Amino acid sequence: MKEDILHNLKIINDRIRKSCEKSGRDPKEVRLLLATKTVSAAHIKTALENGQTLIAENKVQELKEKYEELKSTPHENHFIGHLQTNKIKDILKYEVVCVQSLDRLDLAEKLHQKLSAEGKTIDVLIQVNTSAEESKFGVHPDEALELTRKVSEFSTLKIKGLMTIGLFSAETEKVRPCFKILKKLQQQIISQNIPNVEMKELSMGMSGDLETAIEEGSTIVRVGTAVFGARVYPDSYYWNEEGV
Ligand SMILES: *Cc1c(COP(=O)(O)O)cnc(C)c1O
Repeated sequence: MKEDILHNLKIINDRIRKSCEKSGRDPKEVRLLLATKTVSAAHIKTALENGQTLIAENKVQELKEKYEELKSTPHENHFIGHLQTNKIKDILKYEVVCVQSLDRLDLAEKLHQKLSAEGKTIDVLIQVNTSAEESKFGVHPDEALELTRKVSEFSTLKIKGLMTIGLFSAETEKVRPCFKILKKLQQQIISQNIPNVEMKELSMGMSGDLETAIEEGSTIVRVGTAVFGARVYPDSYYWNEEGV
């Protein structure tokens, strides 16, 4: 398994480099985030000990279970799943530095309350549902600007950009419009010059479509399967209410 992970990481990093070359981008502009749902702490550690620095969970429960074992290996923890407000305290306790799945005002409010009380701040990305699939979380593209404005008023929340899960399709050309929507929203929000809003990050692209996402401007690709192998659970378990 260790050899598989190292081999797969090499392949992914090559894919990232090649698509950057193809679209005239500097590979340093694109970070590889490892989506570690269902992956054991031991396997995650292998990746962290071999050049990887950025990981993310979808569920607070898994974050909690792996925390102790990963604590002493340097890394950065993001959160990419649906976050229930009653789990916010755990997000802070287990040292998540960026919530990529901020998709509603009440979550922002509750995060702000908790952070203010602890005298902390956190990075956030606004999650946008660019595929119009009801089964996915994320704010509707038409409402992303308004949500960004409102979230920007919470001084503890540092908006760094946008995140999306593209259409689930094996045909990359069907996924591309989702990434274009996110890029366009980013431009639109930048043009509004909203105080307390940075729009540098576009978190988009996964194992199957990272090339397309990089061509469309991704700065964070989130990869699970292509590094750690196929998962037993269907993704719906993580992506919609059934799994919550
Ligand atoms: C699982 C997951 C990924 C990674 O998906 P793969 O197809 O396994 O690379 C990326 N983003 C989110 C939000 C995920 O839940």
